[in-house]
Amino acid sequence: MNINKNIQKASKDTITTDVLEIMAHNKDDCIVITQNELPVGILTTKDIMELIKNSFDLSLPISNYMSSPIETINENASIKESINFMKEKHFKRIVVTNSKNVLTGLILQRELISLSYSKWSVLMREYSSELSEINNLLERKTKKYEKMASTDQLTGLYNRYKFTELFNSEYHTMEQRDNSMCIMMIDIDYFKIVNDKYGHNVGDNVLLQTSNILLKHFRNVDIVSRWGGEEFVVLLNYDKEKEIFKYIKRVKELIRNSDFAYKNNHIRVEFSAGVSYRDRYENHFDVINKADKYLYVAKNSGRNKVVFEDNKEL
Ligand code: GH3
Ligand code: MG
Ligand code: MG
Repeated sequence: MNINKNIQKASKDTITTDVLEIMAHNKDDCIVITQNELPVGILTTKDIMELIKNSFDLSLPISNYMSSPIETINENASIKESINFMKEKHFKRIVVTNSKNVLTGLILQRELISLSYSKWSVLMREYSSELSEINNLLERKTKKYEKMASTDQLTGLYNRYKFTELFNSEYHTMEQRDNSMCIMMIDIDYFKIVNDKYGHNVGDNVLLQTSNILLKHFRNVDIVSRWGGEEFVVLLNYDKEKEIFKYIKRVKELIRNSDFAYKNNHIRVEFSAGVSYRDRYENHFDVINKADKYLYVAKNSGRNKVVFEDNKEL
Protein backbone atom coordinates (compact mmCIF):
# COMPACT_ATOMS: atom_id res chain seq x y z
CA MET A 1 0.00 0.00 0.00
CA ASN A 2 1.23 3.47 -0.87
CA ILE A 3 1.01 5.45 2.35
CA ASN A 4 1.91 8.87 3.65
CA LYS A 5 5.26 8.45 5.44
CA ASN A 6 5.64 12.11 6.47
CA ILE A 7 3.40 11.80 9.41
CA GLN A 8 3.28 14.08 12.41
CA LYS A 9 4.47 12.35 15.50
CA ALA A 10 5.58 13.23 18.99
CA SER A 11 6.93 11.16 21.83
CA LYS A 12 4.55 10.54 24.72
CA ASP A 13 6.65 12.68 27.07
CA THR A 14 6.32 15.81 24.92
CA ILE A 15 4.66 18.69 26.74
CA THR A 16 1.17 19.35 25.41
CA THR A 17 1.90 22.99 24.39
CA ASP A 18 4.83 21.72 22.28
CA VAL A 19 2.51 19.24 20.61
CA LEU A 20 0.14 22.13 19.85
CA GLU A 21 3.08 23.98 18.32
CA ILE A 22 3.95 21.04 16.02
CA MET A 23 0.33 20.72 14.96
CA ALA A 24 -0.01 24.45 14.33
CA HIS A 25 2.84 24.30 11.82
CA ASN A 26 1.40 21.34 9.95
CA LYS A 27 -1.67 20.93 7.86
CA ASP A 28 -2.49 17.42 9.14
CA ASP A 29 -5.35 17.27 11.56
CA CYS A 30 -3.84 14.66 13.87
CA ILE A 31 -0.64 13.59 15.52
CA VAL A 32 0.52 10.10 16.44
CA ILE A 33 2.10 9.74 19.89
CA THR A 34 4.97 7.28 20.10
CA GLN A 35 7.15 5.55 22.61
CA ASN A 36 10.41 4.22 21.18
CA GLU A 37 8.95 4.59 17.70
CA LEU A 38 5.98 2.40 18.59
CA PRO A 39 2.61 4.16 18.29
CA VAL A 40 0.88 4.37 21.65
CA GLY A 41 -1.77 7.05 21.14
CA ILE A 42 -3.32 9.58 18.82
CA LEU A 43 -4.60 13.15 19.14
CA THR A 44 -6.76 15.07 16.67
CA THR A 45 -7.35 18.83 16.34
CA LYS A 46 -10.82 18.17 17.71
CA ASP A 47 -9.24 16.73 20.90
CA ILE A 48 -6.99 19.82 21.20
CA MET A 49 -10.02 22.12 20.97
CA GLU A 50 -11.64 20.19 23.80
CA LEU A 51 -8.49 20.61 25.93
CA ILE A 52 -8.43 24.36 25.39
CA LYS A 53 -12.17 24.76 25.87
CA ASN A 54 -12.09 22.88 29.17
CA SER A 55 -8.91 24.69 30.36
CA PHE A 56 -6.82 21.58 30.85
CA ASP A 57 -3.27 22.00 32.05
CA LEU A 58 -1.30 22.17 28.83
CA SER A 59 2.05 22.04 30.61
CA LEU A 60 1.55 18.32 31.27
CA PRO A 61 2.96 15.67 28.88
CA ILE A 62 0.69 14.71 26.02
CA SER A 63 0.36 11.14 27.35
CA ASN A 64 -2.23 12.58 29.78
CA TYR A 65 -4.57 13.56 27.00
CA MET A 66 -4.01 11.24 24.02
CA SER A 67 -6.51 8.55 22.98
CA SER A 68 -4.95 5.29 23.91
CA PRO A 69 -4.40 2.43 23.21
CA ILE A 70 -4.20 2.86 19.47
CA GLU A 71 -5.43 0.37 16.86
CA THR A 72 -3.12 -0.06 13.89
CA ILE A 73 -2.97 -1.96 10.65
CA ASN A 74 0.03 -3.72 9.14
CA GLU A 75 1.67 -2.02 6.15
CA ASN A 76 1.22 -5.21 4.10
CA ALA A 77 -2.56 -5.05 4.35
CA SER A 78 -4.39 -4.68 1.05
CA ILE A 79 -6.51 -1.65 0.14
CA LYS A 80 -9.61 -3.78 0.55
CA GLU A 81 -8.58 -4.96 4.04
CA SER A 82 -7.76 -1.37 5.07
CA ILE A 83 -11.13 -0.08 3.84
CA ASN A 84 -12.91 -2.87 5.73
CA PHE A 85 -10.91 -2.11 8.87
CA MET A 86 -11.84 1.58 8.66
CA LYS A 87 -15.48 0.76 8.07
CA GLU A 88 -15.62 -1.72 10.95
CA LYS A 89 -13.98 0.63 13.45
CA HIS A 90 -15.65 3.81 12.14
CA PHE A 91 -12.21 5.43 11.80
CA LYS A 92 -11.49 8.35 9.48
CA ARG A 93 -7.79 7.53 9.48
CA ILE A 94 -5.61 4.53 10.32
CA VAL A 95 -2.13 4.28 11.73
CA VAL A 96 0.14 1.90 9.85
CA THR A 97 2.94 -0.14 11.36
CA ASN A 98 5.50 -2.67 10.16
CA SER A 99 5.87 -6.22 11.40
CA LYS A 100 7.77 -4.96 14.46
CA ASN A 101 4.89 -2.63 15.32
CA VAL A 102 7.03 0.42 14.47
CA LEU A 103 5.03 3.37 13.14
CA THR A 104 5.46 3.63 9.36
CA GLY A 105 2.62 5.84 8.21
CA LEU A 106 -0.88 7.17 8.40
CA ILE A 107 -3.62 6.89 5.86
CA LEU A 108 -6.84 8.87 5.57
CA GLN A 109 -10.20 7.54 4.43
CA ARG A 110 -10.24 9.79 1.37
CA GLU A 111 -6.73 8.69 0.40
CA LEU A 112 -7.79 5.05 0.55
CA ILE A 113 -10.82 5.73 -1.60
CA SER A 114 -8.76 7.53 -4.23
CA LEU A 115 -6.19 4.68 -4.16
CA SER A 116 -8.85 2.07 -4.79
CA TYR A 117 -10.37 4.24 -7.52
CA SER A 118 -7.02 4.60 -9.32
CA LYS A 119 -6.46 0.82 -9.11
CA TRP A 120 -9.92 0.30 -10.54
CA SER A 121 -9.30 2.76 -13.37
CA VAL A 122 -6.02 0.99 -14.26
CA LEU A 123 -7.95 -2.28 -14.40
CA MET A 124 -10.62 -0.69 -16.52
CA ARG A 125 -8.00 0.64 -18.92
CA GLU A 126 -6.32 -2.78 -19.10
CA TYR A 127 -9.57 -4.56 -19.82
CA SER A 128 -11.22 -1.89 -21.94
CA SER A 129 -10.30 -3.56 -25.22
CA GLU A 130 -11.66 -6.91 -23.97
CA LEU A 131 -14.79 -5.15 -22.73
CA SER A 132 -15.39 -3.39 -26.03
CA GLU A 133 -14.89 -6.71 -27.85
CA ILE A 134 -17.48 -8.37 -25.62
CA ASN A 135 -19.77 -5.41 -26.18
CA ASN A 136 -19.42 -5.68 -29.96
CA LEU A 137 -20.08 -9.39 -29.81
CA LEU A 138 -23.22 -8.82 -27.72
CA GLU A 139 -24.38 -6.11 -30.10
CA ARG A 140 -23.88 -8.39 -33.10
CA LYS A 141 -25.71 -11.23 -31.34
CA THR A 142 -28.57 -8.91 -30.33
CA LYS A 143 -28.91 -7.70 -33.92
CA LYS A 144 -28.87 -11.29 -35.15
CA TYR A 145 -31.59 -12.36 -32.69
CA GLU A 146 -33.62 -9.23 -33.41
CA LYS A 147 -33.47 -10.07 -37.10
CA MET A 148 -34.39 -13.69 -36.43
CA ALA A 149 -37.36 -12.62 -34.33
CA SER A 150 -38.64 -10.15 -36.90
CA THR A 151 -38.09 -11.89 -40.22
CA ASP A 152 -39.45 -14.94 -41.93
CA GLN A 153 -36.75 -17.55 -42.47
CA LEU A 154 -37.86 -18.73 -45.91
CA THR A 155 -38.45 -15.41 -47.66
CA GLY A 156 -36.49 -12.95 -45.52
CA LEU A 157 -39.59 -10.72 -45.39
CA TYR A 158 -40.85 -9.20 -42.13
CA ASN A 159 -42.94 -11.72 -40.22
CA ARG A 160 -46.45 -11.18 -38.88
CA TYR A 161 -45.16 -10.08 -35.46
CA LYS A 162 -42.89 -7.40 -36.94
CA PHE A 163 -45.50 -6.30 -39.42
CA THR A 164 -48.02 -5.73 -36.62
CA GLU A 165 -45.45 -3.65 -34.73
CA LEU A 166 -44.64 -1.54 -37.81
CA PHE A 167 -48.29 -1.25 -38.75
CA ASN A 168 -49.19 0.11 -35.29
CA SER A 169 -46.55 2.84 -35.38
CA GLU A 170 -47.24 3.64 -39.04
CA TYR A 171 -50.97 3.85 -38.37
CA HIS A 172 -50.52 6.46 -35.64
CA THR A 173 -48.09 8.52 -37.74
CA MET A 174 -50.48 8.47 -40.68
CA GLU A 175 -53.35 9.47 -38.43
CA GLN A 176 -51.42 12.43 -37.01
CA ARG A 177 -50.39 13.62 -40.46
CA ASP A 178 -53.73 12.69 -41.98
CA ASN A 179 -51.94 10.69 -44.67
CA SER A 180 -53.57 7.86 -46.56
CA MET A 181 -52.65 4.23 -46.29
CA CYS A 182 -54.22 0.93 -47.21
CA ILE A 183 -53.73 -2.71 -46.36
CA MET A 184 -53.61 -5.42 -48.98
CA MET A 185 -54.04 -9.00 -47.76
CA ILE A 186 -52.88 -11.54 -50.34
CA ASP A 187 -53.48 -15.31 -50.43
CA ILE A 188 -52.16 -17.54 -53.21
CA ASP A 189 -54.93 -19.52 -54.87
CA TYR A 190 -54.95 -23.29 -54.70
CA PHE A 191 -51.47 -23.39 -53.30
CA LYS A 192 -52.06 -26.79 -51.76
CA ILE A 193 -52.19 -28.19 -55.30
CA VAL A 194 -48.67 -26.80 -55.99
CA ASN A 195 -47.35 -28.70 -52.99
CA ASP A 196 -49.28 -31.84 -53.79
CA LYS A 197 -48.24 -31.86 -57.43
CA TYR A 198 -44.60 -30.72 -57.22
CA GLY A 199 -43.59 -31.28 -53.62
CA HIS A 200 -42.98 -29.02 -50.66
CA ASN A 201 -39.57 -27.81 -51.85
CA VAL A 202 -40.99 -26.52 -55.09
CA GLY A 203 -43.80 -24.92 -53.09
CA ASP A 204 -41.20 -23.19 -50.92
CA ASN A 205 -39.46 -21.89 -54.01
CA VAL A 206 -42.70 -20.47 -55.41
CA LEU A 207 -43.24 -18.64 -52.11
CA LEU A 208 -39.71 -17.28 -52.26
CA GLN A 209 -40.10 -16.06 -55.84
CA THR A 210 -43.49 -14.53 -55.06
CA SER A 211 -42.00 -12.60 -52.16
CA ASN A 212 -39.17 -11.36 -54.43
CA ILE A 213 -41.66 -10.08 -56.98
CA LEU A 214 -43.68 -8.32 -54.27
CA LEU A 215 -40.55 -6.75 -52.77
CA LYS A 216 -39.31 -5.57 -56.15
CA HIS A 217 -42.64 -4.20 -57.25
CA PHE A 218 -43.64 -2.30 -54.15
CA ARG A 219 -41.80 0.86 -53.12
CA ASN A 220 -39.49 1.40 -50.16
CA VAL A 221 -42.23 3.28 -48.33
CA ASP A 222 -44.49 0.24 -48.50
CA ILE A 223 -44.13 -2.63 -46.03
CA VAL A 224 -44.26 -6.13 -47.51
CA SER A 225 -44.53 -9.01 -45.03
CA ARG A 226 -45.34 -12.68 -44.84
CA TRP A 227 -48.55 -12.97 -42.86
CA GLY A 228 -48.23 -16.77 -42.63
CA GLY A 229 -48.29 -19.84 -44.93
CA GLU A 230 -49.06 -18.67 -48.49
CA GLU A 231 -50.41 -15.33 -47.27
CA PHE A 232 -48.73 -11.95 -47.59
CA VAL A 233 -49.73 -8.54 -46.32
CA VAL A 234 -48.67 -5.16 -47.71
CA LEU A 235 -49.04 -1.73 -46.14
CA LEU A 236 -49.22 0.88 -48.89
CA ASN A 237 -48.91 4.63 -48.61
CA TYR A 238 -50.64 6.71 -51.23
CA ASP A 239 -51.83 10.15 -52.25
CA LYS A 240 -54.58 9.23 -54.68
CA GLU A 241 -56.72 6.09 -54.55
CA LYS A 242 -56.51 5.83 -58.32
CA GLU A 243 -52.75 5.28 -58.13
CA ILE A 244 -53.20 2.39 -55.72
CA PHE A 245 -55.69 0.77 -58.00
CA LYS A 246 -53.25 0.84 -60.94
CA TYR A 247 -50.42 -0.30 -58.77
CA ILE A 248 -52.23 -3.35 -57.46
CA LYS A 249 -53.47 -4.18 -60.95
CA ARG A 250 -49.86 -4.26 -62.13
CA VAL A 251 -48.66 -6.62 -59.37
CA LYS A 252 -51.57 -8.94 -60.02
CA GLU A 253 -50.53 -9.21 -63.68
CA LEU A 254 -46.89 -9.62 -62.73
CA ILE A 255 -47.55 -12.65 -60.52
CA ARG A 256 -50.08 -14.12 -62.90
CA ASN A 257 -47.67 -13.90 -65.84
CA SER A 258 -44.63 -15.13 -63.96
CA ASP A 259 -43.11 -18.45 -64.81
CA PHE A 260 -42.05 -19.90 -61.48
CA ALA A 261 -39.42 -22.20 -62.91
CA TYR A 262 -37.75 -24.67 -60.59
CA LYS A 263 -35.90 -27.85 -61.54
CA ASN A 264 -37.63 -28.31 -64.93
CA ASN A 265 -41.01 -27.43 -63.44
CA HIS A 266 -42.88 -24.44 -64.80
CA ILE A 267 -45.49 -23.30 -62.39
CA ARG A 268 -48.03 -20.52 -62.63
CA VAL A 269 -49.94 -19.13 -59.70
CA GLU A 270 -52.61 -16.55 -59.10
CA PHE A 271 -53.71 -14.84 -55.96
CA SER A 272 -56.76 -13.33 -54.36
CA ALA A 273 -56.55 -10.19 -52.23
CA GLY A 274 -58.61 -7.82 -50.10
CA VAL A 275 -57.84 -4.11 -49.78
CA SER A 276 -59.03 -1.79 -46.99
CA TYR A 277 -58.32 1.92 -46.41
CA ARG A 278 -57.13 3.44 -43.13
CA ASP A 279 -59.23 6.60 -43.05
CA ARG A 280 -62.52 4.73 -42.92
CA TYR A 281 -61.96 3.22 -39.45
CA GLU A 282 -61.81 4.35 -35.88
CA ASN A 283 -59.93 1.28 -34.62
CA HIS A 284 -56.72 0.40 -36.41
CA PHE A 285 -57.16 -3.37 -36.04
CA ASP A 286 -60.34 -3.02 -38.09
CA VAL A 287 -58.20 -2.06 -41.09
CA ILE A 288 -56.52 -5.48 -41.08
CA ASN A 289 -59.73 -7.35 -40.25
CA LYS A 290 -61.53 -5.67 -43.13
CA ALA A 291 -58.74 -6.48 -45.61
CA ASP A 292 -59.06 -10.10 -44.49
CA LYS A 293 -62.81 -9.96 -44.94
CA TYR A 294 -62.49 -8.64 -48.52
CA LEU A 295 -59.90 -11.32 -49.27
CA TYR A 296 -62.51 -13.95 -48.45
CA VAL A 297 -65.07 -12.15 -50.57
CA ALA A 298 -62.53 -12.47 -53.42
CA LYS A 299 -61.99 -16.18 -52.67
CA ASN A 300 -65.70 -16.89 -52.53
CA SER A 301 -66.43 -15.11 -55.76
CA GLY A 302 -64.13 -17.21 -57.89
CA ARG A 303 -60.50 -16.37 -56.85
CA ASN A 304 -57.84 -14.62 -58.97
CA LYS A 305 -59.48 -11.43 -57.82
CA VAL A 306 -58.76 -8.30 -55.74
CA VAL A 307 -61.71 -6.86 -53.86
CA PHE A 308 -61.48 -3.28 -52.59
CA GLU A 309 -63.70 -2.09 -49.82
CA ASP A 310 -65.34 0.49 -52.05
CA ASN A 311 -66.73 -2.39 -54.16
CA LYS A 312 -64.13 -1.99 -56.88
CA GLU A 313 -62.74 -5.26 -58.20
CA LEU A 314 -59.79 -6.31 -60.23
P1 GH3 B 1 -57.13 -21.22 -51.40
O1 GH3 B 1 -57.24 -20.81 -52.82
O2 GH3 B 1 -58.46 -21.41 -50.77
O3 GH3 B 1 -56.29 -20.32 -50.63
O4 GH3 B 1 -56.48 -22.65 -51.43
P2 GH3 B 1 -55.04 -23.06 -50.88
O5 GH3 B 1 -54.76 -24.44 -51.32
O6 GH3 B 1 -54.04 -22.02 -51.27
O7 GH3 B 1 -55.26 -22.91 -49.35
P3 GH3 B 1 -55.13 -23.96 -48.18
O8 GH3 B 1 -55.30 -23.15 -46.94
O9 GH3 B 1 -56.09 -25.12 -48.39
O10 GH3 B 1 -53.66 -24.50 -48.28
C1 GH3 B 1 -52.57 -23.71 -48.09
C2 GH3 B 1 -51.37 -24.54 -48.35
O11 GH3 B 1 -50.17 -23.78 -48.21
C3 GH3 B 1 -51.26 -25.73 -47.43
C4 GH3 B 1 -49.90 -25.60 -46.80
O12 GH3 B 1 -49.22 -26.80 -46.69
C5 GH3 B 1 -49.18 -24.66 -47.74
N1 GH3 B 1 -48.12 -23.95 -47.10
C6 GH3 B 1 -48.18 -23.12 -46.03
N2 GH3 B 1 -46.95 -22.67 -45.70
C7 GH3 B 1 -46.07 -23.25 -46.57
C8 GH3 B 1 -44.66 -23.18 -46.72
O13 GH3 B 1 -43.92 -22.49 -46.00
N3 GH3 B 1 -44.11 -23.91 -47.73
C9 GH3 B 1 -44.87 -24.68 -48.54
N4 GH3 B 1 -44.27 -25.36 -49.50
N5 GH3 B 1 -46.19 -24.77 -48.39
C10 GH3 B 1 -46.80 -24.06 -47.44
MG1 MG C 1 -54.31 -19.35 -46.89
MG1 MG D 1 -54.31 -20.03 -50.52
